[in-house]
Amino acid sequence: MSSMLTDRVAVITGASSGNGRAMARRFATEGADIVIADIQEEPREGGEPTHELIDSETDASATYVECDVTSRSELEDAVDAAEEYGGVDVMVNNAGIFHEDEFLEVDEETYDRMMDINVKGTFFGAQAAAKRMVDADGGSIINLSSVAGLEGSADYITYCGTKGAIRLLTYAMASNLGPDGIRVNAIHPGLIETTMTTEDVEIMGTDAEEGFVQAIPSRRAGQPEDVADAALYLASDLSDYVTGESLIVDGGMTNTQ
Ligand code: NAP
Repeated sequence: MSSMLTDRVAVITGASSGNGRAMARRFATEGADIVIADIQEEPREGGEPTHELIDSETDASATYVECDVTSRSELEDAVDAAEEYGGVDVMVNNAGIFHEDEFLEVDEETYDRMMDINVKGTFFGAQAAAKRMVDADGGSIINLSSVAGLEGSADYITYCGTKGAIRLLTYAMASNLGPDGIRVNAIHPGLIETTMTTEDVEIMGTDAEEGFVQAIPSRRAGQPEDVADAALYLASDLSDYVTGESLIVDGGMTNTQ
């Protein structure tokens, strides 16, 4: 049995659903104990809560902590919950929201909400973990950006702004925390089949899906497991000399237009 994350502890925000849930399950199969930090316990896509699934399908331990990432203190509590297993080694700032918008009509409340969840949540999630990691033997922080953090889109301008901010925060954090043995990297998923793309924006399962897929060299949408595999690399010692990196997981969509 492989064990890339034996004796490691990971805190993953937004891990009740989608990409975060897949990362939690993948990390647990590699031996990591997991703290699921999410605003709700039930998966958006249905099924057993992530921590119960991990307890039943792996030898790892998992716990759910109710955490709204817009609250710095709740993020601190989520990271503290990792102490039960020995303290945080891997922090994944994954919780995020998406919606399309029209620039001239974006109101302040909508803007603030997306900035708070996507950017502030990532900033203070990373800070909470890094504070513990500097006192330990370092660690790995992974921030979920998007291909929308690499290129501008007219149709979801606020989201692009948040994901671009996450990309540069990642580089700056990597620069700041590198001497303490803390690596910080970003993942930029493309079109991934989660409730974000089946419900928040109706792409998957609609007529629009085929058009999107034809623009992807791999000719398929990504699955949350594709993102989880990339995250496993960044979480593990295989990426020991990789920091301040943007790992694109999009089937080739971005760099081949
Ligand atoms: P998802 O299926 O909607 O899962 C997101 C999870 O985050 C949900 O469990 C959600 O809970 C939770 N969440 C929302 N607001 C939160 C908050 N304030 N505090 C704590 N948790 C919160 O989305 P996903 O597709 O897995 O997305 C995960 C990450 O990948 C996001 O950062 C997203 O931007 C990024 N990403 C996704 C795609 C894609 O195609 N799916 C592409 C690029 C990047 P609720 O159920 O309560 O909302």
